[in-house]
Amino acid sequence: MIWGKEKIMSVIAFKDFCVATHNTPVYVCLFFLAASYTDSSDDETSPRDKQQKNSKGNGDFCIKNIKQADFGRREIEIAEQEMPALMALRKRAQGEKPLAGAKVVGCTHITAQTAVLMETLSALGAQCRWAACNIYSTQNEVAAALAEGGFSVFAWKGESEDDFWWCIDRCVNVEGWQPNMILDDGGDLTHWIYKKYPNMFKKIKGIVEESVTGVHRLYQLSKAGKLCVPAMNVNDSVTKQKFDNLYCCRESILDGLKRTTDVMFGGKQVVVCGYGEVGKGCCAALKAMGSIVYVTEIDPICALQACMDGFRLVKLNEVIRQVDIVITCTGNKNVVVREYLDRMKNGCIVCNMGHSNTEIDVASLRTPELTWERVRSQVDHVIWPDGKRIVLLAEGRLLNLSCSTVPTFVLSITATTQALALIELYNAPEGRYKQDVYLLPKKMGKIFFAGGLRTFCTNSTDNTASLICSVQSRLPGLAYHSQQNKSCVSVHTCVRAYSLPHFLTSPLVHESRAHTW
Ligand code: NAD
Repeated sequence: MIWGKEKIMSVIAFKDFCVATHNTPVYVCLFFLAASYTDSSDDETSPRDKQQKNSKGNGDFCIKNIKQADFGRREIEIAEQEMPALMALRKRAQGEKPLAGAKVVGCTHITAQTAVLMETLSALGAQCRWAACNIYSTQNEVAAALAEGGFSVFAWKGESEDDFWWCIDRCVNVEGWQPNMILDDGGDLTHWIYKKYPNMFKKIKGIVEESVTGVHRLYQLSKAGKLCVPAMNVNDSVTKQKFDNLYCCRESILDGLKRTTDVMFGGKQVVVCGYGEVGKGCCAALKAMGSIVYVTEIDPICALQACMDGFRLVKLNEVIRQVDIVITCTGNKNVVVREYLDRMKNGCIVCNMGHSNTEIDVASLRTPELTWERVRSQVDHVIWPDGKRIVLLAEGRLLNLSCSTVPTFVLSITATTQALALIELYNAPEGRYKQDVYLLPKKMGKIFFAGGLRTFCTNSTDNTASLICSVQSRLPGLAYHSQQNKSCVSVHTCVRAYSLPHFLTSPLVHESRAHTW
């Protein structure tokens, strides 16, 4: 493990604090957290130019530094503690191996939480090859731990665009191995296979897609009659919308802004573009910190929700000159264009929480009259000829995954949904799914709400526990588990889920989520 000065100093600072308070467990947790997101390795060699092997002599991976594997393993173990549903699924279903023979190619953020998902898929019988869906979000030490554990991982933090596509290609274009399942986040992997290896779809049984952007691309393929396998839309599942998008962003927006800029939130004027789940989370967090929050929205229902929640609904051009922070959360493109960037005040912080880096028109800032200054990792000052500068974070890529930590518990729910969707598509009898996009049914979400409640329920005989049991008993095909049965609700339901033939067969819902829920 190579540690830079920055990382060592942060550990020393925490150590001082912990000695003073005699709080050793806190020290241990913070130690890992501080080290995890500050990869200050001095090695500038591109991973593509290195020949690395794991301790078993396997070199079928491309990552930053295999020597970080032990550190990454501890990160994964910490994540496991906060991923009860996924760990329960692993424990209970690994005997049956519902993914035996599955060859899953994945393109998601490579974080400790994803590692727990990949190791779960492997325990259920799948072989996995994985690339990152974002050039900044890979935890290098986690990628190292996965490579050491025998996974073919092609990802590192700070890939170039060319590296990004190269890594995806290395996952797919391999002799003697062909994927039969796709797990995608953003649709780039799916797009690459369509473009380069369309014949692969003959063997692919299905696509599981996580993001708004990727799902949108699947709908377009479906509309054009070009979708050639069934696809599962995890993004619109109640489990993801109501937890991942909302709570994950509520907790991580402040962290991302703070780590990159040290900004104080109280009294700051912030405009949040988009009041979907991500926008709602960001607005709630900033409001709670005392910021003055404006919202822009194009959907009348979400716009009204913003008003009902006490936010000032505005058009971007009305407030662009006065705000201190601009945050995009729309899943749309060109929301903040050059015209707005020109009118922002000096020091305005601009960042994006949506999946793709096209919400802010960053390309329009690459013109000769503007100077770019990299002031910190993931922080650029873009300077106008008159001296005005804006603070652009993560080059317009999604802030929290690029610059902060994300809460493991909510990611656990999404990861479990992804695992169940893979199991369902892989095991579905011929004809159950057509070449279309399918939505996970709301009742499946209820299972997770019930499982989640159980986690927070300290007394199994109280009202909450009764509620869990009653929710469970009303779900078709699911056995009733009495309050006396102390085993976790989600264990039973997860395991039963993949054996229910009618479980995931709801048709595609095309309406916006504002109407769905
Ligand atoms: P959503 O569809 O619920 O909300 C998006 C909202 O933006 C909608 O209400 C829409 O009407 C509005 N909108 C669209 N174009 C707009 C524009 N030009 N101006 C103002 N409003 C506009 O989607 P969501 O679940 O909130 O996700 C938003 C984005 O965030 C997606 O790209 C998604 O993939 C991504 N996402 C990020 C994270 C994260 O951790 N950062 C987590 C989940 C999802």
